[in-house]
Amino acid sequence: MQTKEYFDEYYQKNKEKILKKQKEYYNNVGKTKRVKYNEDNRERINEYYRIYHKKRRKELGISERVNEGKVSWMKKIIKRDGAFCKKCKTTKDLTLQHIKPRCIGGEYSYDNLEILCQTCNIKDYHQLVKKALTYYFKNK
Ligand SMILES: [Zn+2]
Repeated sequence: MQTKEYFDEYYQKNKEKILKKQKEYYNNVGKTKRVKYNEDNRERINEYYRIYHKKRRKELGISERVNEGKVSWMKKIIKRDGAFCKKCKTTKDLTLQHIKPRCIGGEYSYDNLEILCQTCNIKDYHQLVKKALTYYFKNK
């Protein structure tokens, strides 16, 4: 009779053999199957991630123009400052803005980033040029 004890005993006796076989199966069949699945469904997987990131951006109120690499940065800054524009307090179309502009050596760092909405960001552009020039002449 093949009871649980029988299988336990069989497993203990042949543990190494069984594990070796499992590993072999994984390395040959399992892995190949997974790689093949990924290759065959590349477009489907990409589409899945595209939709996933789109949903995440929508949940956080982040602008469509913000690329995926910046989303994690935005999450950090949102955690610190809250999910709204620093100037007009809107919660829609949020973007990242450098306090000290990049063009004059402002860093892509935690302390140099703030949240602005797209409208304020564009309005801020002229201020930015002014700011850039001021920085430039101050530190010349
Ligand atoms: Zn705003």
